Amino acid sequence: MAKKTNPPTVKCSFCGKEPSYTDILIPSPLGETYICSDCVDQIEGLLKDYLKENTPAGNKKAKAVDTPDSKPLPTPKEIRAFLDQYVIGQDDAKKYLSVAVYNHYKRLAQKNDDVDIEKSNIIMVGPTGTGKTLLAKTIARQLDVPFAIVDATVLTEAGYVGEDIESLLVRLLQAADYDVAKAERGIVFIDEIDKIARKGDNPSITRDVSGEGVQQGLLKLLEGSVVNVPPYGGRKHPEQKMIAVDTKNILFICGGAFDGIERKIAQRLNTHVVGFTGNSVRSKVNADNYLQYIAPQDLKSFGLIPEIIGRLPVLVHLDPLDRDALLKVLTEPKNAITRQYEKLFAMDGVKLVFAPETLEFIVDKAIEYKLGARGLRTIVETIMMDPMYETPSTDIKELVITRDYAEEKIKKAYIG
Ligand code: ADP
Repeated sequence: MAKKTNPPTVKCSFCGKEPSYTDILIPSPLGETYICSDCVDQIEGLLKDYLKENTPAGNKKAKAVDTPDSKPLPTPKEIRAFLDQYVIGQDDAKKYLSVAVYNHYKRLAQKNDDVDIEKSNIIMVGPTGTGKTLLAKTIARQLDVPFAIVDATVLTEAGYVGEDIESLLVRLLQAADYDVAKAERGIVFIDEIDKIARKGDNPSITRDVSGEGVQQGLLKLLEGSVVNVPPYGGRKHPEQKMIAVDTKNILFICGGAFDGIERKIAQRLNTHVVGFTGNSVRSKVNADNYLQYIAPQDLKSFGLIPEIIGRLPVLVHLDPLDRDALLKVLTEPKNAITRQYEKLFAMDGVKLVFAPETLEFIVDKAIEYKLGARGLRTIVETIMMDPMYETPSTDIKELVITRDYAEEKIKKAYIG
């Protein structure tokens, strides 16, 4: 005999509410369970909170932020990955730069101005030939914005022989094909900023042509102002019509070797150690690379005026390139020097090979000549001059550059 069963009670499978206690009971597609509208509301709230806490901010924002040209803006990690293809080492600098550039373009994309995001101009401090210009150039290439490199040493105050501050923007205008709007979102790399430091820590009473006056002029550009730029530069074309350029959204990246700043850093660290924290800090300081401890006050001790330092809030240091790094510079970046020569020879149907001992020899010479990465190209060029001259007239298919051959070429050039 069949057993009599009661019909199943319809109620919310989550909180147990029966139909009379809720607006609606939604059955599951399988028809065996139900959920009430109150539980749906609660779950929705939980889900929102969960997503807010667990979605990486970078990924979420990256989709929302576009470059001014409406191209999706790469995230700091993507910018960094691109830099890694071209620049060896310099981990800190890459990280700081990636974030600063990302923020800069987010600032440009900002629509409402309830919070005014300030510009994050950058200053890079590091020995010559360690990749300051290369970093700035590579970033500009990735973002596809106009980019100009200018040298601070050519700047003088108006009225003196040399170029005016406005000339910094001429190159940028040229790089933007005179499209002012495009130039106004570009990047200017000002090299050798240390050369316009005033001599000594105290403001001079007398006029300092090379230093403080130029810094004051530069300050205006960094802060953001409308500058009348002579489109062809210089003072040779007095008839040229000026172009007004607003520097508010131009990203300025400054670079300099700041020779001798290590001493100022060491001095500061020592004072600090003696005054406040005893020996524990001293033992942690790596005296081989004081630059890594650089702080804004060191730039001031070196002779940059505080206002300029304030307008360059992102301070990054570059590490000297050691032997290993130089070896990598020679072979690893996407456009490494040896790759460039291999390509040149390949275009003539010749397979060019640098023997590993040859690469080591080139690096040793660069170190010996104290030329750093800058010297690598000169040395390779010296070694490769004869093969480049002779090989195209031969039917050689493979050319191996041995250490003996390289040594001989360098010796000859040196004697010459
Ligand atoms: P600076 O720090 O003086 O601005 P650059 O960036 O102009 O130095 O470097 C000069 C050259 O040396 C570059 O064109 C590049 O070939 C090489 N170089 C320097 N540093 C690096 C690096 N970290 N990684 C790869 N190449 C480098």
